[in-house]
Amino acid sequence: MFLTDSHAHLLDPSFENDLEKVMERAKISNIGYINNCIDPLDNNEVEKGLKLIEKYESVFLTAGVHPFDAKNRSENEDIEKILLNFSPERLIAIGETGIDPTYDVSIEIQKNVFRKQIEIAEEKNLPIVIHCRHSFQEILDILKEEKFIIGGELHAFSGTWNEAEKFLDIGFYISFSGVLTYSKKAKDVATKTPFDRILVETDSPYLAPLPYRGQRNEPSYIIRTIEELSRLKGCPIEKIAEITTNNFISLFLNKTEQKWN
Ligand SMILES: [Zn+2]
Repeated sequence: MFLTDSHAHLLDPSFENDLEKVMERAKISNIGYINNCIDPLDNNEVEKGLKLIEKYESVFLTAGVHPFDAKNRSENEDIEKILLNFSPERLIAIGETGIDPTYDVSIEIQKNVFRKQIEIAEEKNLPIVIHCRHSFQEILDILKEEKFIIGGELHAFSGTWNEAEKFLDIGFYISFSGVLTYSKKAKDVATKTPFDRILVETDSPYLAPLPYRGQRNEPSYIIRTIEELSRLKGCPIEKIAEITTNNFISLFLNKTEQKWN
């Protein structure tokens, strides 16, 4: 049985001292795939990201500018140039990108940077990983205006079932984090989301599941979210692990493999 962590930040400074141990625990826990985010405009992070995929065959990369980092970068044409030319092995998506009004970055700047990355994903024929908080309509409108049909992942989904449905309609997958272990709203959405569109993630080092809530999260904790999903869906843990891994493969890896051939 392989487990999949469809979204993590392993290069976060909080992993600096013990990443090897974290990865060892991930291996013991049978995590077959970890989708790790990197910022391609940060040379130091790129260097570390490339080392990571060289060292661990379970690690894949999603590259993009997080809405929190969109500040000062909207004027920077390099986003397009750098991201367009960034094609390391095992790059499977563009992101995480999106809109979050709780950040101290103007919504206009966030929208611009989001749009640019949608265009790049289109150009590279890659799915996108979306960060969306309190901005479901804005994100939907932009995806529709840009006619983006490749699809992607709504990471750490925080919306209602009504909002989830609109994204399912345009080919997106809904990803649940450790929040699923304690949020009534997330449990409701997960119960209704069809099996063929569900993903699980840790968003390490953030969003740790119960009983680790508030602590640093890590990929091996993904089992808590899978257990909760198993309970909500009335479906064995092994089956949930298989379904979420297969969904990850169909969304991110089949496309990439086609591109490599
Ligand atoms: Zn994240």
